[in-house]
Amino acid sequence: MSFFKSLFCHKDSTPPAPIPSLSDEIIPLSTPWKGNLPCVHGPNDGCKNHNPSHSEIHFDSSLFLDNETLKPVQPKPVAHHHHSTSSDSSSPQKIEILSNLPRDLPASGVLSCLPKIHKSLPYTLSFYHLSSFSSIGSCQSKTGSNPLINWTATPLVKSDSLYIRFTLSFTLQTDLGGWTPSTPHARSIVKNGLIGSGYRDFKPCLHTHIKFTSHKGEGKDHVRYAGVNYTIRDSEGQGRSVEWRSEVDGNEGGEKGGCGKCETDFKVICRFEDEESGRVGVEVKVWKGLGEGSHPGEGEWLGLTRREPGEEMGKRKGEVGGVERIFEEK
Ligand SMILES: [Zn+2]
Ligand SMILES: [Zn+2]
Repeated sequence: MSFFKSLFCHKDSTPPAPIPSLSDEIIPLSTPWKGNLPCVHGPNDGCKNHNPSHSEIHFDSSLFLDNETLKPVQPKPVAHHHHSTSSDSSSPQKIEILSNLPRDLPASGVLSCLPKIHKSLPYTLSFYHLSSFSSIGSCQSKTGSNPLINWTATPLVKSDSLYIRFTLSFTLQTDLGGWTPSTPHARSIVKNGLIGSGYRDFKPCLHTHIKFTSHKGEGKDHVRYAGVNYTIRDSEGQGRSVEWRSEVDGNEGGEKGGCGKCETDFKVICRFEDEESGRVGVEVKVWKGLGEGSHPGEGEWLGLTRREPGEEMGKRKGEVGGVERIFEEK
């Protein structure tokens, strides 16, 4: 038994990185280094905002942590041949991310980054980004073809505090065979489908989990109905099942939630996009309060980036729903 145990505990045996302490003074470097934008992980990628033409953008591959699944490509020397003065609207926004924070100290948490809400979301917000937060700008793009998820990331600075909102959306469709709204009354049809693995798991934060399980399409009495089932697991490990049925809940239904351990609020929205085709849009919105961004040992940042931020940080400071409200209030 202990032999087998020893085979499997390699991962746990690596000591966790020390928790950055607010009392640890971070001495800024005299010359800044250039980081990559949260949405740019390679020379030819990035969101629609920051690299619509997929032109080469310099980025720093040393900023990727070991557990980062994206594979950055080694950058070629920065191409500075775009010195034309004409403003071409299709050229990427030239945003430079410069930081004076020491990056050779992993324990300082300068390179720690927000965990991904979905595994295919190509957006990595690291602590060092927070010092240039107001210049990062919002991003929007698609993940690819399978899974095809539309995403946006919108930063916000309000009363010296930093916030970010992520929106991830995808569509579900149930094939009802030849059924149309003009099919006679007598011919009703019900079809159930499982949610594909690429669309199943969303993690608003390290402590909560949204799992889409199944969807349903139905045609009866000349009306088409749809349904989506999912579960929400909260930060206490409690799960609740949610069922949206257009027949009962109307053409749009939502469910709110939040984390009790970190400054994360979220919302799931299911919406009939097209009753003719039965297309249902599913949207996962996530709001995060990032703190002031002055030290990686701030409670907000620690809570968002550590599964167990420590005894004194184990609870959320603000109330559940508070981050969404601050972000969305006009
Ligand atoms: Zn971007
Ligand atoms: Zn959390």
